[in-house]
Amino acid sequence: MRVLLVEDEKKLAEALAYQLRKHGYAVDTAADGEAALALAQAQVYELFVLDWMLPKRDGICVLKEIRSLGVEAPVLMLTARDSLADRVKGLDAGADDYLIKPFLTEELLARLRALSRRKNKDYVGSLIATGAWTLDPLKGEARCGDRCAQLSQKEAQLLELLMVNEGQVLTKERIFERVWGYCAEAELTSVELYIHYLRKKLHTTAIKTARGVGYYWQDEANDA
Ligand code: CA
Repeated sequence: MRVLLVEDEKKLAEALAYQLRKHGYAVDTAADGEAALALAQAQVYELFVLDWMLPKRDGICVLKEIRSLGVEAPVLMLTARDSLADRVKGLDAGADDYLIKPFLTEELLARLRALSRRKNKDYVGSLIATGAWTLDPLKGEARCGDRCAQLSQKEAQLLELLMVNEGQVLTKERIFERVWGYCAEAELTSVELYIHYLRKKLHTTAIKTARGVGYYWQDEANDA
């Protein structure tokens, strides 16, 4: 799941990005309103964590702008303000939830999970099935008949991406962006490495290589 984190307090932004990545999110960060808008226009995000007080353009302005662009992804606003009037203003502008600073990381993670469940009822938290395989993305369990493979977070994210795009070739660059995030410190070769891990764990030929391009999922009937 891809998140845009917009926070101008550098230390807080770094700490949050670290925690989010640790919990399996692909995180991009922006330190001001204009950078946030530029990223929101260039990339697709499934969640936004948006600070209210920001340089250049404030959080409400960014929120209104991304909603006017037709972005429907959940937005969690971070704010030191807790007056009722401000909350109403934020919700009117299209925010989905609020978190008052300071907050615990666990609280942020719980809110994000709730938001993504609400918005992606058919997707997050439910099983993904193609052919003989099913994946529980939250538990990281991939099953095929009696076989069950326990996957790491990144492996599960990668498999999820392949399975929901069944039959479609995904370029290495696209996979990298979706699983590791635009600004991640990992390298493009991680994609190959994790494809290798997945093939080994699943003992499947369903992960196909499109030579020189990328990978795709094609689960043949005889795969089980
Ligand atoms: Ca701020």
